[in-house]
Amino acid sequence: MFGWTGVFLKIDLSKSQTIAEQYDQTLALNFLGGRGFAIKILWDRLKQGTDPLSPENKLVFATGPLTAVGLPNSGKLVVASKSPLTGGYGDGNIGTLAAVHIRKAGYDALIVEGKAEKPVIVHINDKDCEFVDAKDLWGSSSFETEKWLRKKYARNAGIVSIGPAGENQVKFANVVSQEGRAGGRPGMGAVMGSKNLKAIVIEGTSQISLANPDGMRKLAADGYREVLAKPLYPFWKRQGTMSTIEWSQENSALPTLNYREAVFDKADEIGGFSMEKIKISNRGCPQCNMTCGNVVKDTEGRDSELDYENVVMLGSNIGFGDLAQIATLNRMADELGLDSISLGNVVGFAMEASEKGLIAEKIRWGHFEETKDLINDIAYRRGFGAVLAEGVRASSKIVGKGSSDWAMHVKGLEVSAYDCHAAPSMALAYGTSSIGAHHKDAWVITWEMKIGRENYDSVKVDHLIETQLIRGGLFEALTVCRFPYNSLGFELEWYQKYLKAATGIEFSLNQLNEISDRILNLIRAFWVREFKEKWDSELDVPPLRWFKEPLTEGPLKGEMLDMEKYKGMLRSYYDKKGWNESGVPKQSTLERLGLGEEAKQLKAYVKLETEPFVSTTLQNTPFP
Ligand code: SF4
Repeated sequence: MFGWTGVFLKIDLSKSQTIAEQYDQTLALNFLGGRGFAIKILWDRLKQGTDPLSPENKLVFATGPLTAVGLPNSGKLVVASKSPLTGGYGDGNIGTLAAVHIRKAGYDALIVEGKAEKPVIVHINDKDCEFVDAKDLWGSSSFETEKWLRKKYARNAGIVSIGPAGENQVKFANVVSQEGRAGGRPGMGAVMGSKNLKAIVIEGTSQISLANPDGMRKLAADGYREVLAKPLYPFWKRQGTMSTIEWSQENSALPTLNYREAVFDKADEIGGFSMEKIKISNRGCPQCNMTCGNVVKDTEGRDSELDYENVVMLGSNIGFGDLAQIATLNRMADELGLDSISLGNVVGFAMEASEKGLIAEKIRWGHFEETKDLINDIAYRRGFGAVLAEGVRASSKIVGKGSSDWAMHVKGLEVSAYDCHAAPSMALAYGTSSIGAHHKDAWVITWEMKIGRENYDSVKVDHLIETQLIRGGLFEALTVCRFPYNSLGFELEWYQKYLKAATGIEFSLNQLNEISDRILNLIRAFWVREFKEKWDSELDVPPLRWFKEPLTEGPLKGEMLDMEKYKGMLRSYYDKKGWNESGVPKQSTLERLGLGEEAKQLKAYVKLETEPFVSTTLQNTPFP
């Protein structure tokens, strides 16, 4: 098999044991890698109803066939497990040397299971693996941990770790690498903490076996040159995603004061051009020449890496208009191992609850000291911080008094940094995303502004489905970064060529779409299997604030979403996906995608509808 190593490494923390498992090529052909491997592993190996923070949950670090091959933006992995925040499928991608080393050590994925008796570090050196006592590191920040491990092991080893938030099983703790690259928003860091796993260090030295190594070398070099030549590249290098702040402000999409408003009076002060004045360098993921992390100094003179999401969520959404202060809050999030999006969201919730007098704690919008204290309280589960550590959905249940209307989440995952009072398509993207309210699968909002934000029509549904297949399916399965394609216009055909050079297989765009659809349908089936009779289409509806409380400021004053029209779009979405009126995949849809076995298993938990279909079993899939 070219392109894939054909091996997963199972790491059993309870037994301090590793097993290298060969897997069948059919799995690679049907699920590609990354998110595809992760959902298939979790579907097959997790029992329905597994407690996400129990030893029985699995934590998967999965790469793809293009990872570490030396082509543009290919230094990423997907970290996935059953989410303690949502109760459904959770994942995130991280740009990290660990992705490169997993492949060079001869694996496509690591599957971590069980629970170590005491805190450990797993150190993998090609085929060797040791379980190292981590008692001296337990309690350290993710930055200190990595620094210490880099001294002990190779300077360029792959390292992923958790901070105190992961150790304390904060439900939106993430996994951190290389001082600021983080992923696994729906609590993958908490899962790691529940297993007493402080860090994984991996060093691999072998070459990845490619179908056409010479061709790949040339294609990779051509790809880097093509990225550099894209007209938008110079501006991207200056600001990365930060220019989106001015765009969101102009288009009334900038989350402000817990998504109450969509314009912020200090937007210019936190925007891309203000950031450029204090920027000291670019930082990025391995094998990337777009390096979108904007490094600035925080209020204490420490480096902090800013991008659109962390600046908005820790800025306008909680009332901060000072980039150095935002940089400090962001640095705290990275060191503690808290997802900065969810953090800004729960802090905004707390500030609004405090303003309304619903909680005894005093936490004011934009108050620097109070916010820093609250962030520490969340990470260490102290006082009201312990409530917020459970996520915004759980917090609103505790606070009550109507606060669930402005607890900004979908399926328990906090909404990321786009306000949707007047963006029905983006609202549907949040509603139907694979992990809850995240923008990664379908960032359709800029497209929506161009074609008309007021429409709720099927053109929008079609575009959303297509975007989810590419971004949430293909890119997450390949585990390559979406930004070259998405932000610079680096064409999809490049990835087909890369796949051919890596695997020897010529994948058509239709075949890649089918693989993506298979992955996204299996993720949906996983959610349904977990929720069983509690599964309901209401779970695909975004927060009620966007439907009940119109904007009171800016050019779109008075705007809000229309529930009836939203539900019309949702029905159309289900129909086009081959799902029933509750959003459950039909048996025929799963069978058409080669998921007949999975359909049978799902039928043990929910009734599946069916309709006539033309069978194309996995064996008949026309791969060359
Ligand atoms: S563009 Fe940004 S997110 Fe993507 S690989 Fe490069 S540094 Fe990482």
